[in-house]
Amino acid sequence: MPDSLDHAQRLLAQLRFPHGDAPVPGTIKNVAPSIHWLRMPLPFQLNHINLWLIEEHDGWAIVDTGINMAETQRHWETIFARELHGKPIVKVVVTHMHPDHVGLAGWLCERWDAPLHMTLGDYMSSQAIRNGIVDAGESRGTHLLANGVPADKVETFARHRGGYAKGVGPLPQSFDRLIHGHPLMLGGRRWQVIVGRGHAPEHASLWCPDLNVLISGDQVLPKISTNVGVWPNEPRADSLSWFLDGFTRFRALPADALVLPSHGFPFTGLHTRLDQLTAHHDARLAEIAAAIAARGEEGATAWDMVPILFPRHLDNNQVVFAFAETLAHMHCLETRGHVERRPRGGVHRFVAAAPIPTSVPLDDSDDALEVGPV
Ligand SMILES: [Zn+2]
Repeated sequence: MPDSLDHAQRLLAQLRFPHGDAPVPGTIKNVAPSIHWLRMPLPFQLNHINLWLIEEHDGWAIVDTGINMAETQRHWETIFARELHGKPIVKVVVTHMHPDHVGLAGWLCERWDAPLHMTLGDYMSSQAIRNGIVDAGESRGTHLLANGVPADKVETFARHRGGYAKGVGPLPQSFDRLIHGHPLMLGGRRWQVIVGRGHAPEHASLWCPDLNVLISGDQVLPKISTNVGVWPNEPRADSLSWFLDGFTRFRALPADALVLPSHGFPFTGLHTRLDQLTAHHDARLAEIAAAIAARGEEGATAWDMVPILFPRHLDNNQVVFAFAETLAHMHCLETRGHVERRPRGGVHRFVAAAPIPTSVPLDDSDDALEVGPV
């Protein structure tokens, strides 16, 4: 699809990537005073995550941990042996509950006797999902059927569920809470916690005014658009509205901040990227609204609209994320008054209401289907 590639290239060309190649797993690369970039592999189409190692006077802080996999542990051991200059890990900070971020938190905290720093929402959600307390089989099936997923596909979605507990090792029994707007000391400097919603319950990004550096986690990514989904444990969530509302917190930061994202490369051009992502979602919303309007009074379920947002072939893992993301767009359209929910026979159908006023150009770039909360 050369058009998509051209479009993606055009967007990337509007950002700057000042740090060049990524460090190979098991090595680190300095990107700002006291801050080092490392990468760990992931067993998905999205094949890597960026983690951050911050030097303290008496040790090191880790931001995000990698997925619970022997290979990740081996790379960590290499870093411990070669890069720490004999100093211990004294702090483990986790931006949010997804397995690539929190997966090895328990192992790292235990190995180094270090405290875990997370938001309340993400620590508790991780514990609850990992231990099967929420999102159990029956509520999941009801949610999927109510949104048009065919009965024979529900089983595919159910199989996907075991992945979370596999990717996340046992967590510490206690944690230190990160709170929006509150400070966190890292590397001898004051950082500020910025909470975003929609991708995870309470995703923590970290902002350091002294360094003009934002550790954005998954809230602002340079190339792919963050997966924003509605999941069975919160079936009426308006995740996309929440996610986009959070952009105002990032727009308040300097336009020339260095952004350290969890996937892709460190970049500058924060405000440009927020503009690109806003335009991307507006275009996706307009596409779905048009497709729903074309169906007249019959309307559409979220499942009906998955091929509108994701026309390419999806594997069994990707379809779970694609459906969650499509439903998030439906709920956002409902909140904005562009569609109306019409339950019929226990199934939620959406019909066109007020049209989107201005014409929004169609968007042909790709959404990321990355590891999420199930
Ligand atoms: Zn994530």
